[in-house]
Amino acid sequence: MASIWHDGLFAAALAGGRMNFLSLITGSFAMPAAENPTVAMMDAAYAHHRVDARYINCEVPPEKLGDAVRGARAMGWAGFNCSLPHKVTVIEHLDGLGESAAIMRAVNCTVLRDGKLIGENTDGKGFLKSLREVVDPAGRNVVIFGAGGAARAICVELALAGARSITVVNRGRTRGEELAGLVGERTPANVAYAPWTTNYAVPENTDIVVNATSIGLYPDVDARLDLDPASLRPGMVVADIIPNPPRTRLVREAEVRGCTVLDGLGMLVNQGVINIKYWTGVDADAGVMRRRIEQIFGV
Ligand code: NDP
Repeated sequence: MASIWHDGLFAAALAGGRMNFLSLITGSFAMPAAENPTVAMMDAAYAHHRVDARYINCEVPPEKLGDAVRGARAMGWAGFNCSLPHKVTVIEHLDGLGESAAIMRAVNCTVLRDGKLIGENTDGKGFLKSLREVVDPAGRNVVIFGAGGAARAICVELALAGARSITVVNRGRTRGEELAGLVGERTPANVAYAPWTTNYAVPENTDIVVNATSIGLYPDVDARLDLDPASLRPGMVVADIIPNPPRTRLVREAEVRGCTVLDGLGMLVNQGVINIKYWTGVDADAGVMRRRIEQIFGV
């Protein structure tokens, strides 16, 4: 694959008459970084669209983050993703924040715009893009399980997209209330915390149910959300953000109940699509990226 891509790119570089071997550089700063499959998905998209760009997966410890960002600026990187543990601390090294990143105070994608390094959050935007393939959240009632970083990103985007109500159900009350308070204060949405009671029944008027906890993530693949399966009704959209395995117990149970389901690969792939749009202006083919990820996860 790599050699085909390189041959193709060099051919493209030479075909125009003028040689150009200077690629656009993008990548990721995280720790640990070795198990992050994003690079494979991004390379597949760059190769498919014949974009002369590289995605470099870098392991950056917290105390080196400032140096890494200065290095990326010095080398003219088009931008980079940030994963744990840098999503919040990277902000002090940036020149500004996009709207939703400013509300959630977390950045997973930086973009060089007019010489300024701007922090965006494409996790929630990726979720939204994936959700919009089946339902527009505007005017809808949402129940979201979880109040961690991913839940925060999703809640803010759903609120900005005009969701009528968002109920945050979380095991830990403090985190749940904090998230509901933050989104309720900073957006027009009606957001409330609800305690996670045993065999939680999703309210009847719910349109969209989201699992944004880590329940079901490999290797604990049989773990299930403590909710009443009978409260999942046909017509509801049930989205799980667990990317591996994509067919979680929640996805399977919701499918049996006649719900429209979304798996976590949609969010993963679509945040990559948005990153590529930010960095290169190209509308990447989500199918190509999804197939590469499915190949990696063996699904
Ligand atoms: P965090 O650690 O910030 O939050 C974890 C959340 O899960 C908290 O709300 C926590 O509740 C809850 N939780 C964990 N274990 C349990 C349990 N046994 N019972 C009830 N609640 C539980 O993680 P993130 O928000 O960053 O990530 C959450 C998941 O989302 C991960 O599995 C990650 O893989 C996935 N993800 C997927 C993405 C995608 O593109 N598909 C993108 C980003 C994340 P409490 O507050 O009570 O501890």
